[in-house]
Amino acid sequence: MAAALARFNKSVLFSSWQLMGRRTLATTTTRCWQANGEFYSEEHKELQRSLKKLIDSEINPFVDEWEKDHRFPMHEVFKKLGDAGFLGISKPVEYGGSGLDYSYTVAFAEALGSVNCGAVPMAITVQTDMATPALAKFGSDYLKETFLRPTIAGDVVVCLGVSEPGAGSDVAGIRTTAKRSGDDLIINGQKMWITNGIQADWMCLLANTSDGQQHLNKSLICLPMNTPGIHHTKIEKIGMHSSETAQIFFEDVRVPAKNIIGEEGLGFTYQMLQFQEERLIGSVLCLAPLDKCISSTVEYASQRKVFGQPVLNNQTVHYTLAELQTEIECLRALCYMATGLYVAGNDVTKLVSMMKLKAGRLARRIPDACLQYWGGMGFTQDNYVSRLYRDLRLMSIGAGADEVMMAIICKYSNTLPKAVKKPRETANKPEPAVSQQRTASV
Ligand SMILES: Cc1cc2nc3c(=O)[nH]c(=O)nc-3n(C[C@H](O)[C@H](O)[C@H](O)COP(=O)(O)OP(=O)(O)OC[C@H]3O[C@@H](n4cnc5c(N)ncnc54)[C@H](O)[C@@H]3O)c2cc1C
Repeated sequence: MAAALARFNKSVLFSSWQLMGRRTLATTTTRCWQANGEFYSEEHKELQRSLKKLIDSEINPFVDEWEKDHRFPMHEVFKKLGDAGFLGISKPVEYGGSGLDYSYTVAFAEALGSVNCGAVPMAITVQTDMATPALAKFGSDYLKETFLRPTIAGDVVVCLGVSEPGAGSDVAGIRTTAKRSGDDLIINGQKMWITNGIQADWMCLLANTSDGQQHLNKSLICLPMNTPGIHHTKIEKIGMHSSETAQIFFEDVRVPAKNIIGEEGLGFTYQMLQFQEERLIGSVLCLAPLDKCISSTVEYASQRKVFGQPVLNNQTVHYTLAELQTEIECLRALCYMATGLYVAGNDVTKLVSMMKLKAGRLARRIPDACLQYWGGMGFTQDNYVSRLYRDLRLMSIGAGADEVMMAIICKYSNTLPKAVKKPRETANKPEPAVSQQRTASV
């Protein structure tokens, strides 16, 4: 680890895209879909080139070591990204962001996929697009100054605390409470599966701030992680090794009530909005790794000979890879369409859910198919394809499982069965399997 840090090049980076972004783009009306038919403009591409340069010098050379260590130096890496302006691309200029429309964040996420593992991009996008959208949109000036500005600068690391041991898909069912005590809140409960949870300086926490109706009794709270009463343990996983995942316990944790983001009681709604950016960015993050999964397999299969000819020469192999590449382009088109509509101010919940579902499916299917063509080499630990096979499996589970995405799509398509009104004599019997409450909570 020390060697990895020592190799960290200190000379980086006030990148050309950042100069462009600050001076030109923030004052220009930007648009996705260019006159030449491409989705990205030259400015988007410049941002991507700058990011890839940083990834090639500051991240990829160390990824194998970080994967073995099951952690990476988040504060050092995030500071590099913050200095280069990558942690607040669509965040308000007043708090150190670049104020660019969301297509630039999508361009950033697609380029971030060139990191040689799933874990580091996931950790970075928790900081940029999973734990901070609600704060940027609804937080008070005090909260944005205290928590958002240092997060964009890369001076602190943030995590998102929604899931619990008893409530993952069913977000409305969380049990953690934040009860009023004078001007403070006293927090008790626990959170599960918290990405960045070991090294985080603060958490965007979803907790019940009253006993009322499940969708109106929650608040999002900025919680400094060095507050007394917070304890954590590390969860070991089958993939995403360099990202540390924590279970976090709260025992009488005291935080000022002014740390509530936006209006008290609207936390569930804010979190559902925040999920849209999380799911959009999570899906976009898959594009480059899936592309690389196929290209590296083509390369290997064209060299590896079986029965006297390259593996790739078998029609079943090159046809399968062609079909899978086509699937990736369908996902990419969906990503760009949803982004364009989001930037134009539309509700993209249904499209984003479709995107997340498709990304989850392809993230399972493509590494699995490619790994097969590597034979025994595909079953080794350090192979890029086997790393993706482990890492991307999370796509169908995290940020809302595939089935939750399907429930949302059905809800928006009006095909979800409505809750049946109970006849008098069966009023005390259990609920039917598909209840309105579950679908309302996704
Ligand atoms: C590596 C990792 C990182 C994570 N990072 C974070 C984080 O930073 N912050 C955070 O808050 N959470 C995080 N999560 C939690 C993640 O969002 C949850 O795991 C996810 O929402 C699923 O919840 P669960 O694990 O409790 O599964 P459950 O809710 O128990 O669901 C189990 C399974 O039931 C099925 N299912 C669910 N709903 C339905 C339905 N309506 N119909 C049919 N089947 C259904 C699905 O197949 C699902 O996978 C992370 C998880 C992992 C594994």
